[in-house]
Amino acid sequence: MNEQLTEKIKNLKKQQNAVILAHNYQPGEIQDIADFTGDSLALSIEAAKTNADVIVFCGVLFMAETAAILSPEKTVLLPDKHAGCPMADMITAKQLRELKGKHPGALVVCYVNSSAEVKAESDYCCTSANAVEVVNSLPTDSEIIFVPDQHLGRFVSEKTGRKMILWPGYCTTHAAITEDDIKKARKAHPEAIVMAHPECNEPVKALSDKILSTGQMLKFAKQSEVKVFIIATETGIIHTLKKENPEKEFFPATERALCPNMKRITLDKVLWSLEDMQYKVTVPDEIRIKAKRALDRMVAVLPAK
Ligand code: SF4
Repeated sequence: MNEQLTEKIKNLKKQQNAVILAHNYQPGEIQDIADFTGDSLALSIEAAKTNADVIVFCGVLFMAETAAILSPEKTVLLPDKHAGCPMADMITAKQLRELKGKHPGALVVCYVNSSAEVKAESDYCCTSANAVEVVNSLPTDSEIIFVPDQHLGRFVSEKTGRKMILWPGYCTTHAAITEDDIKKARKAHPEAIVMAHPECNEPVKALSDKILSTGQMLKFAKQSEVKVFIIATETGIIHTLKKENPEKEFFPATERALCPNMKRITLDKVLWSLEDMQYKVTVPDEIRIKAKRALDRMVAVLPAK
């Protein structure tokens, strides 16, 4: 069944000159049919440089919006129009304008997990892979507002030594990972290294060995001598970790770390998306141009090697 679907998707993709981008948290079978898989930064760069006419974004709305902002001449499709991100929805452009009003002159850094409108109100965008470098590139005497993820914000503040005004947003999926989960997983696999995403809460990060973005986790797992890993992020990444490192073992810190929005994308929906050219994601020019400025600055700052 999956083979037939995959075949149909491949044919349609060719006909429509489409490219399929999939986030590391997507279901395994979606990652397998994608032309590119990666974290938000890698996918943003790919979206900006692809020659395809159509981008099928297997992820959530803010990612498809990011592709539409960077490539306005392309058709950007999100296979499920309800695939949103609760964290991105935790701040509106109006709330950000009010916060800016209280801190005139502050530079605004927004995590890519935010709406196009919030990006348009921001000076810089960042991902978890380059947030430290983005903040380090800012003048040392400027006040910094960081939205919407308080946990990534605290991590960046610690790494850079910069005090930042943090918005109290958080990822509902990473919030499901607890200290207790890490302790139990360590007991079950004492030889393992724990890799945690910066979106995890502070006690979880304090119990982990490495704090890495998903792209950095994939790289570290490949290069490390370590054979067993506990993964404290959305469990979708374990598919690629296992595929790329068949001789190593990967265990989720908890099976509860599952993003229901990411899992809305299925092979059927990818096929329908290409058949019916939906759901088109567009960003009005007055927002797009301002949001692109923040994104261009982000794409220019790559994470340290
Ligand atoms: S994993 Fe968290 S941040 Fe990512 S899309 Fe899901 S809710 Fe949003």
